[in-house]
Amino acid sequence: FCHETKTFHSLRSAAPLPDENLPLSAAAYALSLIPSPLPSNSALIDAATGAAISYPELVSRVHTLAASLRSRAGLSKGDVAFVLSPTRLDVPLLYFALLSLGVVVSPANPLSTAGEISHQIRLSNPSVAFATAATADKLPRDLPIILLDSPRFRSFLSPAAPAAAPPPEVSQSDTAAILYSSGTTGRVKGVVLTHRNFVALIAGYHAAKEAVEAPPDGPAVALFTIPLFHVFGFFMVLRTAALAETTVLMERFDFGAMLRAVERYRATYIPMSPPLVVAMAKSDEVAHYDLSSLRLVACGGGPLGREVAERFTARFPNIEIIQGYGLTESTGGVSGTAGPDESRKYGSAGRIGANLEAKIVDPATGEALPPERQGELWLRGPTIMKGYIGDAEATASTLDSEGWLKTGDLCYFDQDGFVFVVDRLKELIKYKAYQVPPAELEHVLHSHPEIADAAVIPFPDEEAGQIPMAFIVRQPGSSVSEQQVMDFVAKQVAPYKKVRRVAFVSSIPKSAAGKILRRELINHVSTIPASKL
Ligand code: AMP
Repeated sequence: FCHETKTFHSLRSAAPLPDENLPLSAAAYALSLIPSPLPSNSALIDAATGAAISYPELVSRVHTLAASLRSRAGLSKGDVAFVLSPTRLDVPLLYFALLSLGVVVSPANPLSTAGEISHQIRLSNPSVAFATAATADKLPRDLPIILLDSPRFRSFLSPAAPAAAPPPEVSQSDTAAILYSSGTTGRVKGVVLTHRNFVALIAGYHAAKEAVEAPPDGPAVALFTIPLFHVFGFFMVLRTAALAETTVLMERFDFGAMLRAVERYRATYIPMSPPLVVAMAKSDEVAHYDLSSLRLVACGGGPLGREVAERFTARFPNIEIIQGYGLTESTGGVSGTAGPDESRKYGSAGRIGANLEAKIVDPATGEALPPERQGELWLRGPTIMKGYIGDAEATASTLDSEGWLKTGDLCYFDQDGFVFVVDRLKELIKYKAYQVPPAELEHVLHSHPEIADAAVIPFPDEEAGQIPMAFIVRQPGSSVSEQQVMDFVAKQVAPYKKVRRVAFVSSIPKSAAGKILRRELINHVSTIPASKL
């Protein structure tokens, strides 16, 4: 902590970054870090079928696919490709190929409804979509679609005549991806991340890996149950390749299948959201599998309670829980614990990564605060997003003129530089680490003819972290029921966004400017005894 500037600096050794003027795509950079000769462990494995792609195959398929996408699908630098697919082996190949061409990748949750997708498409304005037979129906009719499970896409992966012109130069300042996040307030926005953002993130992880000894039992085997459209999954695809690890992909999450996959592929680590750590800590099923290969779980996306971490560690003393914190607007990675000593600091989200600076700012006075004091976490560094696409207003209220990102999270640093996430100042609800923007649900609720007013807040839930709870003011004479309200919303939003709790009230607390005072509702709920809930 620097008392003069009131800024926290990273305690990790600085990761050397390539010259920012060097033309370099995030894909080319990640692939360039793979050691030569190429590693002999598999790069990617499909957990369900066992189909594997080796490192030489990964590199050659990415080149072939990129050439096909240019010459046969007519994609070129600056185009935006919307990706709506469940996890499958093709998705990482597609990300690498598109990024290497400078085509902007915009992946979305395949569980989204057609309405949610059309909002995202309005934001990112893609010229093509990659989908599967199961997801394509949700896309607008006028958008050209390439099906990943079609013979046409298969043919893109077989060597074709080399493209005539050399591939375009991709600048690090070019947009690499548009991911979706509601940020601190309002509806979903498109987060613009550049190639430089990913280069800087990957450089940090690569430097950290170089600084420690290689694991004695061979290259790490990561088991992915995390979705590849979320920033966590997206950057992990680049990271695991750059670190020459093996990535085992699961198409859909299933607890038993996950445990089976650990046993079958000798997985050494699993990136997890907190609800999965809870499930592991509690489940009886774990006893039926050989999980002895598992050394780490990397937990992020939401707060991990101390009790859960302790329960997990009591049960699995040989598995370290790395706790990490990040957000889409920071390319995912901000802080993490490193090594068993740091990881035992339960409740902490670790130390901030190489090349990042942080401030803790008093939300009321705007004053930057020293260690041990709580305030909003602000971040600055090469992994911070460029802004929200087509939304200068939201960008200006999130990124200040000096490049600080206001995270909307209430945090503090202790004297040893560990960050603790205390609460969320922003409107966001996180259901199992998925983003649920309350404003979006309120918008849906307002469209119900029998609802006069509505407000949505997070309600604590051990299994999911939080669930969306709606406060409803009925129209005079209406007797609309809890179930009817929940069903009405469920029909219009992705399943993870469902309203799962309803309370009827006579009015919604609002500020003089008409803004919903969610904090009042949250505080009100927290005062109700558990027996009355
Ligand atoms: P997303 O953009 O979907 O990754 O969501 C980012 C938000 O998730 C952060 O701003 C936090 O509110 C929350 N979050 C992520 N990691 C943690 C963590 N380790 N502890 C508490 N909250 C977290």
